[in-house]
Amino acid sequence: MQQKVWTVQVESLDQDGANGHEAVTPTLAWRETDLTAVRHNVRVLTAASAPAHLMVVVKADAYSHGAVEVARAALEAGASHLGVATLPEAFELRHAGVRAPLLAWLAGPSAPYADAVARDVELAAYGCRQLDEIADAVRGRGLMARLHLKVETGMWRGGAAGEWPALVARARALEDEGVVQVIGVWSHLACADVAEHPATEEQRRAFVDAVQVAAAAGLRPRLRHLANSAATLTRPDMHFDMVRCGLAVYGVNPLTGARPRVELKPAVTVKARVTHVKEAPPGAAVSYGHTYRTSEPTRLALVPMGYADGIPAVPPTARPVGYRGSSVRIAGRVCMDQLVLDVGDLPIAPGDTVTLLGTGGDGEHTAEQWAALSGRSQYEMLTGLARRRVGAVHLCQ
Ligand SMILES: *Cc1c(COP(=O)(O)O)cnc(C)c1O
Repeated sequence: MQQKVWTVQVESLDQDGANGHEAVTPTLAWRETDLTAVRHNVRVLTAASAPAHLMVVVKADAYSHGAVEVARAALEAGASHLGVATLPEAFELRHAGVRAPLLAWLAGPSAPYADAVARDVELAAYGCRQLDEIADAVRGRGLMARLHLKVETGMWRGGAAGEWPALVARARALEDEGVVQVIGVWSHLACADVAEHPATEEQRRAFVDAVQVAAAAGLRPRLRHLANSAATLTRPDMHFDMVRCGLAVYGVNPLTGARPRVELKPAVTVKARVTHVKEAPPGAAVSYGHTYRTSEPTRLALVPMGYADGIPAVPPTARPVGYRGSSVRIAGRVCMDQLVLDVGDLPIAPGDTVTLLGTGGDGEHTAEQWAALSGRSQYEMLTGLARRRVGAVHLCQ
């Protein structure tokens, strides 16, 4: 069954407003993004990172929360910059009328750099070859590319390593030519989620050295940026001029084995309506592979969501799904578009709403709990909930 992807902006939906809600929910399964929570988290992060600027990272459709809606909410709440990975993501935001400073950091050979610059999208350059390609794309068109030069500091993903002195020299020459302006120097941390990880300090030192090399070459970038969510919350000495936050904006704890000192509110809730309920005898073997057997007479409820909607397998002992404050077990394997709940005596009926993932308020697991149980990272858990099949609703108060 292929469902239409749709988005509805619901203003002032009060928490008890089930009727208003039902009216705008023409689907059996959907995600709700609480933009009030997003704004709260952005305010917390703005305060934690001041006087540095806050870039809110909205790649991968804002970790499945809806890039355009999150971008607008984040800017209202104090973010100054937006960040995405790819140019199509940046173009989507511009097309929707989002005008804020916006960096797209992942583009390769033959990317539409001139289109990006014409749309005021800031670009990252990882090496001389890419820098020249960007300069060639804008030269003679009356455009000037605003660049963030990326330096390798110890993650060995993107960024200039031994090429860094050549990259900054070349960028300086292109500034003189008037085709580029270097506004940022940046890098990315590999292990900031782990407190006191030695690699983080090494990366900080390598970054400071690289900034000095850029300055010696005559560059005056006003935005030096290194910190992700974890470093924003734990390492003020790494805030520099701007921090780049994704996970924390969505209310998910970015730290491993620790809690942040600030309160973050989870923003996404995944819900579905039960389509069918039936009685089952003891010993009923449920779903593919018969990995689950009922132990007593019970009731089984069919929920129209599955792994194609980002719902992972979890151990049979888990009770990850919420129904009016009760935590309910998934019976057997999660299928592609459906799963079965063993609801026992709960008075659940077709049409009732269950919560698969959220704040925990309905008895459901949070993204962090789902991630821990399923062996996925929190990032994978959130991005897996993408808009491929289920609708998205944005709530704000
Ligand atoms: C995804 C990403 C971020 C955000 O990381 P979080 O851990 O979600 O805060 C920041 N910078 C870059 C380059 C990224 O790719």
